[in-house]
Amino acid sequence: METYLIYRLPSLFRRIALLLELQGEDGFKINAYRRAAERLANTEPETIRYLWEQGRLTDLPDIGMAIAKKIDEFLRTGHLDFLARLEEEVPPGLVDLTRLPGLGPKRVRRLWLELRVTDLNSLERAAAQGQVQTLKGFSARTEARILQAVQTWREHEDRLLLGEALPAAEALLHRLRDHLAVVRAEWSGSLRRGVETVGDLDLLVATPNPQAVRRLLEDLPTWETFTHSSEEVRARWQGLPVHLRFCAPEAFAAQWLYATGSAGHRQGLAQYGAERGLTLTPQGWRDAQGKTLPADTEADLYARVGLPFIPPELRQGRGEIEAAAQGRLPTLLRSEDLLADLHSHSTWSDGRFSIREMALAALERGLRVLAITDHSQSLSVAGGLTPEDLRRQREEIAQVQAELGDRILLLQGAEVEIAPDGALDYPDEVLAELDIVIASLHTHLRQTAKKITQRLLAAIANPHVDIIGHPTGRLLPHRPPADLDMERIFAAAAAHGVALEINANPHRLDLKAEHIRRALAHGVLLSLNTDAHRPADFAYRRYGVLTARRGWATAGAILNTWPPERLLAWLRTPKPQRAQPSGKSE
Ligand SMILES: [Zn+2]
Ligand SMILES: [Zn+2]
Repeated sequence: METYLIYRLPSLFRRIALLLELQGEDGFKINAYRRAAERLANTEPETIRYLWEQGRLTDLPDIGMAIAKKIDEFLRTGHLDFLARLEEEVPPGLVDLTRLPGLGPKRVRRLWLELRVTDLNSLERAAAQGQVQTLKGFSARTEARILQAVQTWREHEDRLLLGEALPAAEALLHRLRDHLAVVRAEWSGSLRRGVETVGDLDLLVATPNPQAVRRLLEDLPTWETFTHSSEEVRARWQGLPVHLRFCAPEAFAAQWLYATGSAGHRQGLAQYGAERGLTLTPQGWRDAQGKTLPADTEADLYARVGLPFIPPELRQGRGEIEAAAQGRLPTLLRSEDLLADLHSHSTWSDGRFSIREMALAALERGLRVLAITDHSQSLSVAGGLTPEDLRRQREEIAQVQAELGDRILLLQGAEVEIAPDGALDYPDEVLAELDIVIASLHTHLRQTAKKITQRLLAAIANPHVDIIGHPTGRLLPHRPPADLDMERIFAAAAAHGVALEINANPHRLDLKAEHIRRALAHGVLLSLNTDAHRPADFAYRRYGVLTARRGWATAGAILNTWPPERLLAWLRTPKPQRAQPSGKSE
């Protein structure tokens, strides 16, 4: 089973509900699917997988046998027969229309039946001709709003997760670099800047022969060209949109800088150059005489105006040029700085591998510290541990530690539920026995801002909590973050000596970059973890690192970079007398 299928379940059932509603089905059935979709959206994906593997999906409220069967079919095959049949009975464009503001499924159904509207184009036509306002319950104002909404919709693009886009772009670059006509091939755009979601796979290829490169691409399985010229190709590959630009080998550095963006960064750089008599063009700097100045690397281009190289992750148009000019650029965290992963799961809760297997995998990846942090008791659907389980688990960890010796340090921790009222899931004396305590929000994420902020503040104030896991609880692309007052969270975390997590799972990336930068400004320590449920998940680290770099994080601000002795000393220091991070960047 591909993990990403689990993340699609909520939208799958929302879609079923929607299609049934468009067909005029009765409300009871529709609501059952909608409730199931919400339940799935508010259950941790790892919990769903765990229950599915155990044949216990119906343990979840709102999931009956019929829906459990559909989940099973989809997770096994990546396909759902029932949905496929529904899709055939409804014009495909109708579903999009239900997302326009002011147009629910009921109204779209009437537009379909009464005006034969089937997609965005026919809706736009009907509205422009004044037909929509002739329907009962639709006014001239509604019609005008619809026209406006159609235009906004056209500007909107579906975004890809960094976690899907980056490996695909890497695979494509490998093919390109093997080709004789390719002098250099790199990613650019938001992908290179490490943005959490990207519009397409943005690639730049230096070649004297674009046509030969295009022929190579068109021979790739699943490659589909939309438009092409000697300058660029727009296409789809493995289902993902690709935007590939060609350039002459000697123009590569300037083109790469240009194609990497962001627009804001480019603008700031152009302005900075203009003050020094130079004009920024896609070919490089041009002087007052109209001569383009040669540059072999991006560093040359920055040096030409007296700036140090600015890492792509910082090119956001958010003060990086001023910082570079004043010599204040941070020395950003690198992947190899990370020595510890402090959030992982084993078969004791909803992980798939034993403590020994996880420890060996961590060792293989060069980690020197691994914390096993299984779920706490109230998350019973994910196999949460009782205090008695914890004692037995401690013995197993000690055995594995004895076997592996000092090659890796294993910590016993727990990912402890924060109850809706802010209480923790274990009593203080149980928490005190653990080497490390992560507190996380997994349930009731839609509480009011006041309530959920208080709830997280209570966890931060607990004397035993070391890290807040995935603080906002968002799941890309569908689940929004909890409505937290982040400034108060940052202030409290700094005051209590609690680290906030940068969860590296590409569906989370939580904290996100903007929050990381604010947290650092408050002097908050951060902890970058993969939340691995299987050895392969340790590879998520790269997405966490990109996000941390976008947040201006230095190695010193991330406790996972500390030598094991320093980390242990920090964990043993009572809160809040813990050291402040050395890597404050602002
Ligand atoms: Zn969690
Ligand atoms: Zn976890």
